[in-house]
Amino acid sequence: MNPHNPGTLVRASILHFLRDPGPEPDPSAWQYFEDGALYIEDGRVRRCGGWDEVLAALPDMAQAAARYLDYRGKLLVPGFIDCHVHYPQARIMGAYGRQLLDWLAHDTFPAEMALADADLARASAEHFAQRMLAHGTTTASVFATVHAHSVDAFFEAAQRRQLRVLCGKVMMDRNCPEALRDSPEQAWEECRALIDRWHGKERLRYAVTPRFAPTSSAAQLDVAGRLLESAPDLHLQSHLSENPGELAWVRTLFPDCRDYTDVYRQHGLLRPSAIYGHGVHLSEGELAVLAQSGAALAFCPSSNRFLGSGHMDASRALAAGVRLGLASDVGAGTSLSMLRTMAAAYEVSMATPLALNPWRLWYLATQGGAEALRLDEWIGNFTEGKEADFVVLDWQATPDLAWRIAHCDDLAERLFALLMLGDERCVVATHILGQAAFVSGQERR
Ligand SMILES: [Zn+2]
Repeated sequence: MNPHNPGTLVRASILHFLRDPGPEPDPSAWQYFEDGALYIEDGRVRRCGGWDEVLAALPDMAQAAARYLDYRGKLLVPGFIDCHVHYPQARIMGAYGRQLLDWLAHDTFPAEMALADADLARASAEHFAQRMLAHGTTTASVFATVHAHSVDAFFEAAQRRQLRVLCGKVMMDRNCPEALRDSPEQAWEECRALIDRWHGKERLRYAVTPRFAPTSSAAQLDVAGRLLESAPDLHLQSHLSENPGELAWVRTLFPDCRDYTDVYRQHGLLRPSAIYGHGVHLSEGELAVLAQSGAALAFCPSSNRFLGSGHMDASRALAAGVRLGLASDVGAGTSLSMLRTMAAAYEVSMATPLALNPWRLWYLATQGGAEALRLDEWIGNFTEGKEADFVVLDWQATPDLAWRIAHCDDLAERLFALLMLGDERCVVATHILGQAAFVSGQERR
């Protein structure tokens, strides 16, 4: 115990996952403590377990000095992880009536062009970082725009709040408006400067971010590969196999590639630190290539429904050995809430051969996301030494939810009802490194 910085002892019902519970849920994959304790020192988890058990193991001095937080009757889980989201697009959520390629041209590109204004970029980043906390999301993999200052704006907003985030400048050198176009050389220069400025600074990490194959030339995809070689531990985020029109376009743009996944493979962009949004229409062969490379997929169910992109078969991807996280994909996604996103994931999975079970859904929104983003050495669950990011949820946040919960027979039913009927109104508090960052609808600054 550090006498100058006493620990924090949190009492609540606690759920966290050690690994994927699988299609037939394996109870050894998670821990649940109805009367649980989380003991935190210096922002890190020291102990997690039943209240009596944790107290018995804690020296008297540490117990006497600890700050005590009482969230009894509430559910405490690791901070939610949003594996794919575009902060500049929060202002076009719910834009009516178009599929992917038209939506990009008519809604997305104008919204991203507006962030040429650095003040608007800062205001957008502030809004987004604040809303992450309001939704209980403590980590996200975030697309900025093509403007380097849009990345600075987001990392500044995240750094002030000590969020653990990935972000990168979108690279696009063709098939987009002139105002959003960079070049392979410009992308190299700007990304290198951003990497030097931000990557590995506190909890911030840089993700090389080519938007998707149609908007980057082969030369620019090569630059993305070279960037990944230029610094250790860089991440990569992009899009893959979202919409049938997009797939046909990729075939005409890259006639020498076997399939969409092969475009990224040929440019050295399939690697363990990579995550691709969507993967709705992948063949068995593509899934096998992804699994072998270690690259992950971000399942974006509300976005896929909203743009009519198709039903991603998450169970099939997991069975193929692909790491999978869950993602809002705002602005095509219709909510930043990972509870709403879990509900959408369940509903999409009902249109596939195997529905996702409640345990797996909670895993995907927490530890699964950490594994997909390769951040699981720091976050995702409450094993000893992990950074103590967590969200406290109210089972009774709305009359409908409270009534349903009162009539559930067991924990699996309650967890499922909470994700199906819950949203940000359920978030009682969001804690970053043990500290309250958002409480009762207010940000703590
Ligand atoms: Zn996206």
